[in-house]
Amino acid sequence: MPAEVLSDHTTDVLVVGGGPSGLALAAELAARHLSVRVVAPHPPQPFAPTYGAWLGELPAWAQACTAQVWTDVRVYSGPQPTPLLRPYALLDNARLLGTLLRRAGERLCWTQGRVTRAERRGELWHVHGEAGEVWTARLVVDASGHGGLLQPTAFEGGAALQTAYGIVAHFRRPPSPPGAMVWMDYRAPHLSRTEVRAEPTFLYAMHLDGDRYFVQETSLIARPAPSREFMAARLYARLEALGTPPHDTESDEWVAFPMNAPAPAPGGVLAFGAAAGLVHPISGFQVAGALNDAPRVAQAVAEALQAGQDAAAAGWAALWPPERRAAREVHLLDLAALLELPGDLLGAFFAAFFRLPAAEWHAFLAPQTGVGPLARSMLRVFAHAPNAVRLPLARAALRRPGVSLRALQQAARMKDSARFSHPSAAPARHPGAMTPPDDTSSDDTRREANSGDIDQQEVIEEGMQGATGNVNADGLAPDVNRQKKLEELRENVAEISGEGREDTRSS
Ligand SMILES: Cc1cc2nc3c(=O)[nH]c(=O)nc-3n(C[C@H](O)[C@H](O)[C@H](O)COP(=O)(O)OP(=O)(O)OC[C@H]3O[C@@H](n4cnc5c(N)ncnc54)[C@H](O)[C@@H]3O)c2cc1C
Repeated sequence: MPAEVLSDHTTDVLVVGGGPSGLALAAELAARHLSVRVVAPHPPQPFAPTYGAWLGELPAWAQACTAQVWTDVRVYSGPQPTPLLRPYALLDNARLLGTLLRRAGERLCWTQGRVTRAERRGELWHVHGEAGEVWTARLVVDASGHGGLLQPTAFEGGAALQTAYGIVAHFRRPPSPPGAMVWMDYRAPHLSRTEVRAEPTFLYAMHLDGDRYFVQETSLIARPAPSREFMAARLYARLEALGTPPHDTESDEWVAFPMNAPAPAPGGVLAFGAAAGLVHPISGFQVAGALNDAPRVAQAVAEALQAGQDAAAAGWAALWPPERRAAREVHLLDLAALLELPGDLLGAFFAAFFRLPAAEWHAFLAPQTGVGPLARSMLRVFAHAPNAVRLPLARAALRRPGVSLRALQQAARMKDSARFSHPSAAPARHPGAMTPPDDTSSDDTRREANSGDIDQQEVIEEGMQGATGNVNADGLAPDVNRQKKLEELRENVAEISGEGREDTRSS
């Protein structure tokens, strides 16, 4: 074991990790006059992955850090494209890094090293590096990426991964529509139904310039996940079948990260970014969310440190308020349904999804949406989807009856309040500063979620009609008639989604 060397200066905060999340938070902390040490195994360097984001979800300052923006953004859930009418951006990672470092200024000190552990001694944290270094700080933030280092994530049932294999290459014939960004193309006439059913993958493609394209074969979520070799073979098979093999490949990229992180339990170390379970469980997006979360979390931490209060607790409360935790439960339920859905039905699922009003699917994929809107969107998807898609959705809902019924109640409340009140104006987003002083959007979400503060046990007792006391892990009594419960849930769903009423009208 190397001899320990105690660093000669203590910082207010030590951030483990120099990815976009760690740096975004470090920059916001430094901007609030806190001293920050970032420890990462590498020097400051542009982030390696190809990051995409909905342009409108990036804070205004980050919209200037984009390499390219597409307005022709499409999805193919069947033969015809669905235009998404929502600009999508490719981030310029070097510019993003430079902007964050400038924002942080002199108060950020970058230390190259690999953290192994951290322990609290009195008022200070002692953070240990693998070469024997010891750094001291008042607060430690784990921004070490997926799975977390100091506050490891527990993935229920094991990690369910998004995987993808992509290349930047030159093509004699366009592999995807020139000038366009294809967010999801589930067409695969070159594969058998059995192959698609077992391993559903889609094409994610960007026309970069001239004959250059980024094309990526993606598995949205799977457990176990397909291998890199499998995904590369799928991509090349697709390009061959399209008659558009690349003739000059500049680079390739392998993507593999977990999608099913639960809301983490707050601990003495604050986590942030992917390490804090903030990857969106349906889209896999995280970067725009971290850039938006950073000012709010930094503000909470700065105020707590100044007041001599528990800064980690303040950071956790700002990052994972109760309504965000409740929304995560609903998203995990949807994720379970997607895992269960036979692969050849994913196209039908997304066809129903993108038939939602734009504001609804935008909200569903946004990081801070409350339980009510999430549940309503899923109910609408349920109403529009074919029966084969509905069943796995209903089954997943049944497996978490407490979560489902709470979500249904929130959705029903939304419907009632929409019936009896005028729609309120959407909260204005802060125009462009890196540090919005007030967080109106999350206040709104908070109001929405708080409007239905429900006792979970009460919901289970009422909703599942007696399934209390001796219940299985899925929340149902061992002798319960599952088919009957499924029917009940279906009826509830039909009633709230308005599907039942429409049926009655048309019959
Ligand atoms: C290839 C790829 C493509 C992706 N594309 C997108 C996308 O288009 N849009 C999107 O929103 N999300 C995307 N994601 C998901 C997610 O947003 C990214 O993984 C993102 O990089 C997470 O940011 P982060 O800063 O939390 O973690 P990371 O970017 O993983 O950064 C972690 C940092 O911690 C450091 N570190 C790790 N261990 C230690 C240690 N022991 N000591 C010190 N430092 C350590 C690492 O070196 C790194 O600097 C993608 C993920 C991958 C893998």
